[in-house]
Amino acid sequence: MAKYRGPVCRLCRREGEKLFLKGSRCMTEKCAIERRSYPPGQHGQGRQRTSDYSLQLREKQKLRRIYGLQERQFRGVFERAERQTGVTGEALLRLLESRLDNVAYRLGFGASRREARQLVSHGHVTVNGRKLNVPGALVRAGDVVAVRERSRNLVTIQAALESVDGRGVPEWLELDKAGFTGTVRALPTKDQITLPVNEQMVVELYSR
Ligand code: SF4
Repeated sequence: MAKYRGPVCRLCRREGEKLFLKGSRCMTEKCAIERRSYPPGQHGQGRQRTSDYSLQLREKQKLRRIYGLQERQFRGVFERAERQTGVTGEALLRLLESRLDNVAYRLGFGASRREARQLVSHGHVTVNGRKLNVPGALVRAGDVVAVRERSRNLVTIQAALESVDGRGVPEWLELDKAGFTGTVRALPTKDQITLPVNEQMVVELYSR
């Protein structure tokens, strides 16, 4: 599947806000949003469209980019959310948050979701004691997610764990920092997922 290989700060600038795609750099004044908070490209500083469609599209792109998914993958998650009972927008957020790469990021094993995804796909993460290298695997309540024992001395993992206090671990997860281990207390509720996204607009976009 095609992977976006361009500059990631450009994605934040396109959405007009920080999506925190680069780890610790996002907290510094080097952040591109701090320096150039207008959309990239020749017409970036021109008039922006404000039709319903363009607003819905931007919300969808923002959410997709936060989790680093390609359109087809994102659409697949959305279709899965549609099949669940309850509010589709909330189910969509819950499914995205339950991805193993996101959980590894939330627990502080990686400084960004992108870094956490690489850790998972390179086999540095275990779920319930068994190696799982599928970033899109969904965790369940009670699962124990950990850094594999022989990977615990990796500098990137240690540095990421050091900085996790700055952003905090969500209450639906429990981190044992010294043990490089986290437990999924329960799947997150809508209130526990604080993202700058209106998920209802994503649902409206795909319902057109
Ligand atoms: Fe986005 Fe981080 Fe780049 Fe800032 S530094 S533009 S938050 S990816």
